Amino acid sequence: MKTPQSIPNSLSDRQQRCLRKNILAWYDLHKRDLPWRTSSDPYRVWLSEIMLQQTRVAAVIDHYQEFLRRFPTVEKLAAAREASVLAAWSGLGYYRRARMMHAAAKVIVRELGGKFPATEKALRELPGIGRYTAAAIASIAFNEPVAVVDGNVERVLQRVAGKRLAGEELWIEANRLLDAKRPGDFNQAMMELGATVCTPRAPACLTCPVVGLCATRGELAKSEKAARQKKREIHYTLNCRNGDVRDAEVFLVQRAKDASLMPGMWELPELANMNGDVPAFTLRHSITITDYTVRVWRGVATSTEFGKWIPAERLKKIALTGLARKILRKVEML
Ligand code: SF4
Repeated sequence: MKTPQSIPNSLSDRQQRCLRKNILAWYDLHKRDLPWRTSSDPYRVWLSEIMLQQTRVAAVIDHYQEFLRRFPTVEKLAAAREASVLAAWSGLGYYRRARMMHAAAKVIVRELGGKFPATEKALRELPGIGRYTAAAIASIAFNEPVAVVDGNVERVLQRVAGKRLAGEELWIEANRLLDAKRPGDFNQAMMELGATVCTPRAPACLTCPVVGLCATRGELAKSEKAARQKKREIHYTLNCRNGDVRDAEVFLVQRAKDASLMPGMWELPELANMNGDVPAFTLRHSITITDYTVRVWRGVATSTEFGKWIPAERLKKIALTGLARKILRKVEML
């Protein structure tokens, strides 16, 4: 395994101190006002870090606040039914994250007396908490000097160093640059810098607090081709009865409990390709690297074996897929 000594330093000790100081000063002035930044409560830090994985900040804010309203403490989360947890997660996708949080909350309450483990090592023993999340919680909530590496940090590290770093090299470099006195703030500052200044395609080097220490000043961006998005077309049928939106019912199907994606969630029945006619409406939906063109048809009969008529007022209480939520919002049933 590589050690800190085996990776050549691109910055001198003095430059590293300067980088820490500049990044923290920039963060203190420019950090975004986000709801999870008002508290270092480990439950809140944990929730925000899990929600932010593979989900944009803007999409997380409302879900974060609503989730906390429903489950304000780890005890409330541990005591909740899984269906309620998934319903509160609905719209964020990657439901395995919610299931693992629920499982970890039960461990914290039942086996650890409701007390969060306070170190990265101990946090990693909990279900669903990997190296990144453990380091984020340990540094932000407990001030442990451990660095995080996510996609944003990785990009900043590589551009500043002017070389490709992979795997363990990234963690070593991140820990070498970490500010040991303010590890939580420094980790958040690196992620913030990557998210708002050192962005993938057009880094704003002129406003960057470390431009004087950066080996590339955006040059690497030119060779970082954006991952090619795949395109797919899918069709769903929207069957409603009882007309008026308040009394209406919509026919939904439940995904298999053992499905690899979104098990147990409710969605509109999918159709095979519908050629010829014009759909009721079309919308776009993206999941990771696939952009979907979603055609929604009205009144196409499907098997009723796995589905149910769901009254409009119950839609908020069941775990819907993000796409089903989007379609039902479009027709104002949600
Ligand atoms: S100078 Fe440019 S490339 Fe270097 S870290 Fe700052 S924004 Fe990124």
